[in-house]
Amino acid sequence: MARYSNRGSVFGRRLPMSYRRRPSSHRSMNKARLMLGLAVAVVSLISYFGSSSYNPVTGETQYISLAPHQEIAMGLQARPELIQQYGGLYPDQSDQDLVDRVGYLLVNSSEARATEWNFEFHLLNDAQTVNAFALPGGQVFITYALYDQLESEGQLAGVLGHEIGHVVARHGAQHMAKAGLTQGLIGAVMAGTGRQDAGRMAQMIGQMVNMKYGRDDELQSDHLGIKFMVDGGYDPRSLIGVMEILARSMGGSRQPEFFSTHPNPENRVEKIEMAIQSIFPNGVPNHLKP
Ligand SMILES: [Zn+2]
Repeated sequence: MARYSNRGSVFGRRLPMSYRRRPSSHRSMNKARLMLGLAVAVVSLISYFGSSSYNPVTGETQYISLAPHQEIAMGLQARPELIQQYGGLYPDQSDQDLVDRVGYLLVNSSEARATEWNFEFHLLNDAQTVNAFALPGGQVFITYALYDQLESEGQLAGVLGHEIGHVVARHGAQHMAKAGLTQGLIGAVMAGTGRQDAGRMAQMIGQMVNMKYGRDDELQSDHLGIKFMVDGGYDPRSLIGVMEILARSMGGSRQPEFFSTHPNPENRVEKIEMAIQSIFPNGVPNHLKP
């Protein structure tokens, strides 16, 4: 009798009970992780879509998690690293003065003047890499390799106006907000699978230094740049000349690095011509500086 009851209770009941308990506790752990993951995802979605702000220059509602002063601070923090990466600042002050004069003329005669951005223009001592770029908050850079190929002040205005366009349209901060959303979602997946979140900061800095904009951002910056050129008294058709220089530099031995951040100059010319046409339907006036 005792043997039967032993068999019945220990092997026949208890053991399967304990087997049942183990998978069910696993299930509740998984469920807790899943709920945590969902909570992180919801919070990151709310913080992304809750961070909307109106941009008066572009007339768009944007999703940006950084305050303007944080954006300016991040740009200033990354500045020395970028200057070093491109061989320091160009030593001839008269060339730097020209970059400053044209850059500040565009800012002060356009809508960019009323914005909070802290504009600074830097001529970089890199004679190999044809490039220009802007950091969030107003730090604008042009390499000597590009500067040296420009044929007129208007072309320099074209390059700088485009970069000022990236700053006022807050393309960098928008990218970071999107990256933040992505990070939040990755974090949610990691919480959901119980893995450690690593390398987030390294990724953020990497994104900032190797900022790549989409085609829409580039076209919007071209459009804004054209407006700033006209406000500054420059012939917007000079920007087409810049596109030709960029296309040429693609064929040479120089690293066409500009194209990683500014793709397809040929296709942009058509859009630039359309933008000029929309500002001057009766043709570009003659008094503008080439
Ligand atoms: Zn650009």
